[in-house]
Amino acid sequence: MVIPNRVVIVGGTHGNEWAGIKIVTLYQSYFRNKFPSLKLEFIFANPVAHELNSRFKDEDLNRAFQYLDEDRPNSYEHSRAKDIKEIIKREPCLVLDLHTTTSNMGKSLIVSQYNRQNLSICEKLTRDLNNCRVIGAPDPHRKYLASQSDFGLILEVGAVANSVVGGESLESTLLLIESILKLVEGQKISEISQVELFEEMQEVHFPKNEKGEISGYIHPHFQGKDFLPLKGKIIPFKNFEGEEVTLILDQELFPIFINEAAYYPQQLAFILCKKKSIFF
Ligand SMILES: [Zn+2]
Repeated sequence: MVIPNRVVIVGGTHGNEWAGIKIVTLYQSYFRNKFPSLKLEFIFANPVAHELNSRFKDEDLNRAFQYLDEDRPNSYEHSRAKDIKEIIKREPCLVLDLHTTTSNMGKSLIVSQYNRQNLSICEKLTRDLNNCRVIGAPDPHRKYLASQSDFGLILEVGAVANSVVGGESLESTLLLIESILKLVEGQKISEISQVELFEEMQEVHFPKNEKGEISGYIHPHFQGKDFLPLKGKIIPFKNFEGEEVTLILDQELFPIFINEAAYYPQQLAFILCKKKSIFF
């Protein structure tokens, strides 16, 4: 059981997340010199969205892979998804899809295929690196770019604003990539182990008024509290009249993507996760 030594590193899947774009355009020789035994390929996934300084042009590229069999002539991202899928499936590979978030997520690894190779990388990195956690986001329809190979992870680093290079998020992403490539190079895979991950359970939306518009905001005390345990009565919001808005949780859950800018169009305020141990 090995991880393929072909690694496809993808940046700019979202055109306004700049760390990944800088890495796939400016750091290719840095990684090639450091890991000469690996076959490294780099993809700048959505250059048109980057020119527009936007997350996407026609549709979210990181959801577009579920529509590969459809005819979507008016979607730039649909054609990009097809091209990227072709590159990925040429031969077995590990896909690393680089993202940033406006939420306080530290160095998060999102795993959508629970196999030993992916989980082994996650387990090792959470042990070796500070502020590194694993999010489980099962993806049965393979809508994510990183799900186009059985071996793939989404690197989600923040908090950083969109459309800027944040030094800490750039360096954290570089550190994650380097740590993963070292594991692939050494094929250091645990044979039997377990990893603790935060599995996505439930979306929580902003309070809304009778017109369906967002009528509140993330409570200042809740902002930045990603991954902190919640149970019972919690106060995630205030409405624009200044009143606190409560929520009751009957089990211990953990919030992620609190106040992620990209989720405002869906009025999505945060996602609640359950902590799980996965044996592999
Ligand atoms: Zn992204």
